[in-house]
Amino acid sequence: MSWSIKIARIFGIPIYLHWTFLILMVWLAMSQIMEGASTSEALQGLAFPLAMFGCVVLHELGHAVAAQRFGVSTRDITLLPIGGVARLERMPEKPSEELVVALAGPLVNVVIALLLYTAGTRVAFRSEDPEMLVHGGMLGRLLLVNVFLVLFNLIPAFPMDGGRVLRSLLAMTIDYGKATRIAAGVGQFLAIVFAYIGLQYNPFLILIALFVWIGAQSEATQVSERLELEGNSVGDAMLTDFAMLRPTDTLGHAVELLLAGSQHDFPVFEESAFVGVLSRSDLMRGLSLSGRDATVEAFVQPGLPPIGLKDPLVPALNRLRESGVPCVPVMNQHQVAGLLSLENIAELLMVKAALGSRGVATSGGISV
Ligand code: ZN
Repeated sequence: MSWSIKIARIFGIPIYLHWTFLILMVWLAMSQIMEGASTSEALQGLAFPLAMFGCVVLHELGHAVAAQRFGVSTRDITLLPIGGVARLERMPEKPSEELVVALAGPLVNVVIALLLYTAGTRVAFRSEDPEMLVHGGMLGRLLLVNVFLVLFNLIPAFPMDGGRVLRSLLAMTIDYGKATRIAAGVGQFLAIVFAYIGLQYNPFLILIALFVWIGAQSEATQVSERLELEGNSVGDAMLTDFAMLRPTDTLGHAVELLLAGSQHDFPVFEESAFVGVLSRSDLMRGLSLSGRDATVEAFVQPGLPPIGLKDPLVPALNRLRESGVPCVPVMNQHQVAGLLSLENIAELLMVKAALGSRGVATSGGISV
């Protein structure tokens, strides 16, 4: 999130502006000044795009509030030039819940459009200019923007809202993995259509095409991985041959371990208590700041709390992915039994895919 600045917190959800969004706003203002507008006119000219993005934020909050009802919190909402992104902690797996969360965003814009329409007809009535709503200023244009947001988001280009609606409706009748594959396929087909139209008319569509293409690919892969790993426990994927460090060890000792084997990240234990993880990048940072004689203690990062050998693998994978921590120790009755990293899980998936491909072809690539 380092490329974004926080501008507000609504319902406890931080709202960020991406720097590219700021550049867009500056560019809009500059282009008006170049055309001869004064600074204050140029700033007034930003009122419409800002109101438009305000509607986008409300749309994202619609998703977030609906998700909250199903116990799913939203980490943040970020505004980009191509729209907003609400990062939900996860998508509810129950198709009916995903359907509600997906529809809640566009529904907000339906409500805004109705409010604007009501307000607009009043203004038009009072000013005795019945065409005001159509040709008029902000109200009419904002109304059109909200209608556009509803229609555009409901295009079934997974992972856009319409695509989620499609996936959840499919998942009510066929299995979740197949529903995701179909929705992702439709999404990627539509991404190609967007890119084609974008090349001729509007470069923003090319960005959206990219977002849809990558999003569909990664979600389809994640779902297939999750289904593949369901039923596996942490013990199935963990590394058992690994080195550990103590807080009082020197960085020089860590370097020896790093060079001697293929392990990049080292769990640090004080007696049997887990202290944290010394990753390769922490080690390099430590070496450049303090040299070989510094102790591990000063550069170890608190990691995730240790997990149990028999814990289910999928939630552990999600936690690892979300935290950005390279590995987590696995305990078996207060004894360190292993180390779980994304790399191990990727290897387990490879093995499963190789075994699976002897009979039936497996879908999608493997990337963790
Ligand atoms: Zn949406």
